[in-house]
Amino acid sequence: MQGFNKYYPPDYDGEKHGSLNSYRGKHALGDRARKLDQGILITRFELPFNIWCGTCNNHIGMGVRYNAEKKKIGNYYSTPIFSFRCKCHLCDGWFEIQTDPKNTRYVVTSGARQKDEDWNPEENGGFAVHDTEGKATPDDPLAALEKTTDAKTHHTKVQVPRLESLMEMSEQYNSDPYSLSLKVRKRFREDKKIRKEKEKVDDQVRDRYALPSTLNLVEEDEDAVKEAKDEWARGRKELEARERKRQKLSVETSLRVSSSSSRSRISSSKSTGSRGSATSAAGDALRARILGNTARRSATAGRSVMK
Ligand SMILES: [Zn+2]
Repeated sequence: MQGFNKYYPPDYDGEKHGSLNSYRGKHALGDRARKLDQGILITRFELPFNIWCGTCNNHIGMGVRYNAEKKKIGNYYSTPIFSFRCKCHLCDGWFEIQTDPKNTRYVVTSGARQKDEDWNPEENGGFAVHDTEGKATPDDPLAALEKTTDAKTHHTKVQVPRLESLMEMSEQYNSDPYSLSLKVRKRFREDKKIRKEKEKVDDQVRDRYALPSTLNLVEEDEDAVKEAKDEWARGRKELEARERKRQKLSVETSLRVSSSSSRSRISSSKSTGSRGSATSAAGDALRARILGNTARRSATAGRSVMK
């Protein structure tokens, strides 16, 4: 039991014991100091944000308090970094939260997941307020001197020659503005002439094919011309192939029709007698001649395509 009251027992000797706590063999912080030899002090710690326990997966709200093991684990410059190890009140899992002096906040390091609800100004089109890294000049005077010397050499070795060359060039251009202007204008006129001619040709093409005047025509070069020619040849070949197929099909159907009709004619001629048979013979001769003509024409067409 901690020495809460001022009762001094009869065997207490101030010189020997020093204090009531040491007389009872207790620390002034009591049970909270039981792990002080490991550098751990038990403190009351309140969750600064919502978390999910990593062991039982339960949500633990912001503001829940734990008897946490507080321990110094390092420094950010002169500011100590503390870790708080807490035991989940819903299970036996432990989680650890650390201070983050660099960003003035807390971070979960293990055993839990933090619910991310921080307002990020950069994400929302604003600017970060803290620049903890800083761009201050070095405190070391030698480093500062080195920096100024570097700047000086950069000035003499790079900046001055560059400036001089720029001035030289500028003087060169300004010495005879008339002849320079003459040159530029001549060049511009030539370009304009070429451009005008091209526009004229383009307009003619647009007129011929009734294209809208806002349509930009492709710049004519060898590749474009060759590509267009190839495209044309391919289209042409496809068309011919289709035509050939169509002709073949029509010949076949006409053959089938004629054979069926001749068969019916024969059967009818049998019933009608000698007159019918005479007309059918003349018709057959005529049909044979037509078929022969068609076959010859398709053959020549095929040959011409082959060529
Ligand atoms: Zn838990």
